[in-house]
Amino acid sequence: MLDTEFFRRWLRAADAAVTREADRLTALDSPIGDADHGSNLRRGFHAVLEALDSPEGAAATTPGAVLVLAGRRLISSVGGASGPLYGTLLRRTGKALGDAPEVSRDAFASALHTGVEAVAALGGAARGDKTMLDALVPAVEALTGGGTFAAARAAADTGAEATIPLLARKGRASYLGERSIGHQDPGATSSALLVAALGTAQGGGPGE
Ligand code: ADP
Ligand code: MG
Repeated sequence: MLDTEFFRRWLRAADAAVTREADRLTALDSPIGDADHGSNLRRGFHAVLEALDSPEGAAATTPGAVLVLAGRRLISSVGGASGPLYGTLLRRTGKALGDAPEVSRDAFASALHTGVEAVAALGGAARGDKTMLDALVPAVEALTGGGTFAAARAAADTGAEATIPLLARKGRASYLGERSIGHQDPGATSSALLVAALGTAQGGGPGE
């Protein structure tokens, strides 16, 4: 079972990963964006950790409440497209978890599916459009039916790398048309970091 502490560890591990990889994320956002993805996420996840340490954060005593609070903070602290999108992912995943004090892996996989669908609805994107969904959708598929966090991580990494030859159809990168081909999508790359952070939160996961 995954308890509230697991979800706090997940967000701490995500903050550590986006902080460590901020320069790489910004470098990926340079040829096909506006070179702010790393700084956007670093600012956003620092704000999430601050919120979790605040009195409001102390009152978030269920997995769902922790994720809803984190999502709201991402939406309010990140100006770029990724803030509302990642914020929606966490907020809608949290809402789907309800007020259970701990949740099974299957319940989490199903809630994350709901969150990813909400990202697709908000951004009007689908897998193959060269966005964060190219890492998130395969990760959820890997988790659904009992897959491990390691399997989800591998699926997200493969999905992020598979964005390189794709033509961007959504977001800033889509303004470049054919010139978006040949570059890895920054949002898919950060999504793979967030999925990898699940393994870190569980303990024993290599890398983060
Ligand atoms: P901005 O594009 O506003 O500068 P960021 O640089 O922080 O925001 O984030 C860019 C990432 O957001 C892209 O690499 C892509 O993965 C993701 N993204 C952009 N638009 C969409 C969308 N409509 N649906 C899903 N993801 C998107
Ligand atoms: Mg950008």
